[in-house]
Amino acid sequence: MIISRQKPFSDILAALEEVNRVFLVGCAKCATVCKAGGEEEVWQMQEALTGAGKVITGSVVIDEACHMLRAGRDLRAKREMVEEADAFLVLACGAGVQSISTASGTRTVAGLDTLFLGNIRRFGQFEQKCSLCGDCLLTETAGICPVTVCPKGLLNGPCGGMDEGRCETDPDAECVWVQIHERLVAQGKAERLAVIIPPKDFSRMLKPGKLKLEK
Ligand code: SF4
Ligand code: SF4
Repeated sequence: MIISRQKPFSDILAALEEVNRVFLVGCAKCATVCKAGGEEEVWQMQEALTGAGKVITGSVVIDEACHMLRAGRDLRAKREMVEEADAFLVLACGAGVQSISTASGTRTVAGLDTLFLGNIRRFGQFEQKCSLCGDCLLTETAGICPVTVCPKGLLNGPCGGMDEGRCETDPDAECVWVQIHERLVAQGKAERLAVIIPPKDFSRMLKPGKLKLEK
């Protein structure tokens, strides 16, 4: 899921400085799980903005704000409230904000910072395990991603800073290459450590990413 967190309220207020009437948008998927832009946070934002003197013309929590057709449909369902607003404040990831901006054409303020693709460790605890490199090598690394989990993104074993199995950049963290080694040994595949992983094909990360499924 996409991990996001709310911008400081002072930043949101500053972005809305010249705006009086605001329509609020949240997202029922990732932003809700991150407690950044679900029903509860939209309601809290409404209270806070009202307290700051803004007029809230209405709100909606879209099932997936990144779904452009759905975002457009949900805004059309609230047309009157939407048209009364001077701006949208969107509590969704950057993809969701752009759905709203595209669907409405109205000034759109991003209320969240979008951080990373994350795994959920437990409620409220998220960890980045994949940085979407487009050239996945997890098969070679026992299902542990050195591109992401190693701060240096090293593909062929640990750096010289590894100390007694701990990461040079964070003594509390185990070096990812120690983790990969241990898992490969446990799987009876230690010989894979001798295979040199070639430089990654970063052309697969070309932006903007596009994928159209064939029927
Ligand atoms: S190798 Fe690339 S695609 Fe695979 S988990 Fe790591 S960052 Fe993600
Ligand atoms: S100690 Fe290991 S995880 Fe940390 S930067 Fe070096 S190779 Fe990467």
